[in-house]
Amino acid sequence: MPAITHHIPAPMIAAYASGSLPHAFSMVVASHLSLCHDCQAALGAHQAVGGALLEEAACVAVSQDAKSNLMAQLDEPAAPEPLYDAKGIYPGPVMQSLKGQPLRWKTLGMGVKQNILFEGQGGSARLLYIPAGQAVPDHSHNGLELTLVLQGSFSDETGRFGVGDVEIGDETLEHTPVADAGDPCICLAATDAPLRFKAFMPRLLQPLFRI
Ligand SMILES: [Zn+2]
Repeated sequence: MPAITHHIPAPMIAAYASGSLPHAFSMVVASHLSLCHDCQAALGAHQAVGGALLEEAACVAVSQDAKSNLMAQLDEPAAPEPLYDAKGIYPGPVMQSLKGQPLRWKTLGMGVKQNILFEGQGGSARLLYIPAGQAVPDHSHNGLELTLVLQGSFSDETGRFGVGDVEIGDETLEHTPVADAGDPCICLAATDAPLRFKAFMPRLLQPLFRI
């Protein structure tokens, strides 16, 4: 496991544990968890608390109707989705969203590419490919952006982010991430609102590329 210095904050682990995170963000959190012992331990602690609450709830009497409804549902298991494991630099949750399909990179210019994995209610998730030394255009955020590094590293005004590190951006963060020298930087990013680019050209292209 890489030496991870930027983790998922506790409230977000709690939201993930309770299943209340939008899918795009869950994908990033689950991917970080697959790389990070520290956050796995934090999640374990939340689940232990959740389990204790469930045990308490189980003591409440269940009506006969509810019981037979539940049993009926258990009799008809949904067709199981095939499970995909991590492959190379891509964590299991990324492979799961691809469902066996190959990656489809679309160029954004200046060698930067993206592959949208999921778009839906609550946000979108994508892979970003940034050549070494290349900057992602200066932008700020309308909402929340969660970025997990899968390969290489990038640096911005707030620090350096290597494999396994997560950067959290919100309305207060205006930054210019630049991929460090070495391997191209590949990130998994979730956003819940369009990014705001300062420069005119990226802003013009934004609707086209659905950033
Ligand atoms: Zn962590």
